[in-house]
Amino acid sequence: MEKLNKAQKIKIGTKFDQPGFGQKGLSGKPEGFDVEVAKILVKELGIPEDKIEYVETPSKVREDAIVNGNVDLVAATYTINDKRKERIAFAGPYYEAGQNIMVKKDDTAITGPDSFKDGTKKVCSVTGSTPAENIKKYVKDVGTQLVLFDTYDKCRDALKGGQVDAVTTDNVILLGYIAKDEASYKLAGDNFTKEPYGIGVKKDDTAFRTFINDTLEKAIQDGRWKKAWDDTAGKFGAKLGDAPTINRY
Ligand code: GLU
Repeated sequence: MEKLNKAQKIKIGTKFDQPGFGQKGLSGKPEGFDVEVAKILVKELGIPEDKIEYVETPSKVREDAIVNGNVDLVAATYTINDKRKERIAFAGPYYEAGQNIMVKKDDTAITGPDSFKDGTKKVCSVTGSTPAENIKKYVKDVGTQLVLFDTYDKCRDALKGGQVDAVTTDNVILLGYIAKDEASYKLAGDNFTKEPYGIGVKKDDTAFRTFINDTLEKAIQDGRWKKAWDDTAGKFGAKLGDAPTINRY
């Protein structure tokens, strides 16, 4: 943390293709709730916002990016779980999403994860994500039914082109895509998992993790957290829900 403050710059791993959370806009910089939460942390560290370097971290590379020091922290729709905690540490959670399914607007055949059990429908997700793992227990044949890419926009394109029948990931990511093209897509059914989002940091950097947890708690209390949401993903029909309780494990 001292090093970051002395250097007066910071590398943040986030998504570049997820509307509402981290998406590169016309400004050339990613925009979204994850980016706004990261900016709150950076400000509290005393580093100017224009000294943030954003590094694209698709789902699969997040742990490696932290372990190898390619980024100082990851804010990227990053579900806190025990497997990931073996390699890195999480501050937070700062939001709780849930896995859902996106289909074409006129689809009536897919109504939830059980719709994949008959083995006929293809579903797309992203390598190294929790939804890609979770959906395996619902599909009859992983080899033919589960299509994996490195980013969600490729899944959206595959749905658009008819190569797959559905995309599965967190509801809020899907709601971002739906908001961009409401005439074409919809959610199929309810959330079927809990995905608490954390800020990923180096496993042994307890001081940094504590600092992030303290800052998140303050930001939740003083309204910065809600404003970050209202300015970004909140515009896309997703719900902020209750303020999550920070888990200082
Ligand atoms: N939250 C889930 C995960 O961390 C899905 C979203 C993503 O791939 O970033 O794997």
